[in-house]
Amino acid sequence: MRREIARFAPEDVDGYERFMKQAEAIFDVGFTQLVDISFADWTTMLKIAPELVRLKSYRTVYGLVASYVKNERIRTVLSFHPLLIGGNPFTTTSILCLISHLERRWGVHFAMGGTGEIVKGMVGLIEGQGGTVRMNAEVASIDVTDRRARSVTLASGDVIAADVVVSNADAAWTYRKLVAPEHRRRWTNRRLEKSKYSMSLFVWYFGTRRQYPDVQHHTILLGPRYEGLLTDIFRNKVVADDFSLYLHRPTKTDTSLAPDGCDAFYVLSPVPHLGSGTDWREKAEPYRKAIEKYLSDSILPGLADEIVTSMMLTPQDFQDKLNSVNGAAFSLEPVLTQSAWFRPHNQSEEVDNLYLVGAGTHPGAGVPGVIASAKVLDRVVPDPRRR
Ligand SMILES: Cc1cc2nc3c(=O)[nH]c(=O)nc-3n(C[C@H](O)[C@H](O)[C@H](O)COP(=O)(O)OP(=O)(O)OC[C@H]3O[C@@H](n4cnc5c(N)ncnc54)[C@H](O)[C@@H]3O)c2cc1C
Repeated sequence: MRREIARFAPEDVDGYERFMKQAEAIFDVGFTQLVDISFADWTTMLKIAPELVRLKSYRTVYGLVASYVKNERIRTVLSFHPLLIGGNPFTTTSILCLISHLERRWGVHFAMGGTGEIVKGMVGLIEGQGGTVRMNAEVASIDVTDRRARSVTLASGDVIAADVVVSNADAAWTYRKLVAPEHRRRWTNRRLEKSKYSMSLFVWYFGTRRQYPDVQHHTILLGPRYEGLLTDIFRNKVVADDFSLYLHRPTKTDTSLAPDGCDAFYVLSPVPHLGSGTDWREKAEPYRKAIEKYLSDSILPGLADEIVTSMMLTPQDFQDKLNSVNGAAFSLEPVLTQSAWFRPHNQSEEVDNLYLVGAGTHPGAGVPGVIASAKVLDRVVPDPRRR
């Protein structure tokens, strides 16, 4: 990193070093101390407030980065990280600069066999402890009597009684669609409508009949605009003609993910959530084609003739298939006013016996975040052996 920064902007090497020290200080509080604690009580928020002020969390990620380095390209590469968890670097709190340190400390990891292997590992853990996993069984409601969750009703009509209900569905969806309005005082329909939702994603998965050996596992292709594009996505809610892309080529690391001599990819473009009013049934194919051309003209020459498999995921799918409010890809936007105590709590503040995990509760989106949300439950779910 030092060598690369020196190549682009020698005057910023010193600022980069100082920024990374600050990212470590933020990590020591924002991650080490806060990531897996329950923010059920507002006094927890009050206790950490001085630390948050000391670390300048009132600044945005971009604002903090810009105070250390001057070159716009260096500012971009040091500040885009909130996008990995659904936040706009120009509006999210600088606490998220902890990601820069997290990446440096532990590196970037990939599950051999793909994310499905993590899922299989978890299923094995549950079944190994005598649990069962029931799939293709949509929960239609969480049933509450006397302010206590007692059972869940499936779309099929089956009712499953429960001592404890943990919802891993999008937190906003859990409240809006699964818990009847008369049981909600904080997360009312009105509040959920007024809340800010993260951006969505257009994801195109594709396989090629040939390999592109020079393409790395992770590539970020930055478009011509940075702040302007993010303003279009987060504030103006328009699908712009230009884009910045993340290109994933897992076969660089794990050749088992494609037949011999072939490659597997996905490319991801951050786009506004469904508040844009875009009809993705019409827009998806032209948008995919524009991305295909861009990739073909840049790092995947001749792409159109090499494709053997193709699948798209649009904001409409995030809503219709994954039950995410507004088709947001990362649930509630991680701005300061929707973080920690201000986010839907892991131990529901509405209903006893109901607990939330996943991107929409504390600490937030991304695999490390959602796993930390499950760790919070270790602290707050009563252990029946101790009753
Ligand atoms: C293309 C892409 C790439 C990503 N890459 C990374 C990465 O490299 N690293 C990283 O850390 N993060 C990454 N993320 C983000 C990460 O995947 C998410 O933040 C994380 O999976 C969110 O976890 P979750 O449990 O909250 O939601 P989900 O993983 O969406 O799980 C929620 C599940 O609940 C189910 N569900 C919803 N409603 C109901 C209901 N009523 N009844 C029954 N089931 C229901 C849904 O079908 C879904 O399976 C990526 C996201 C995308 C889209």
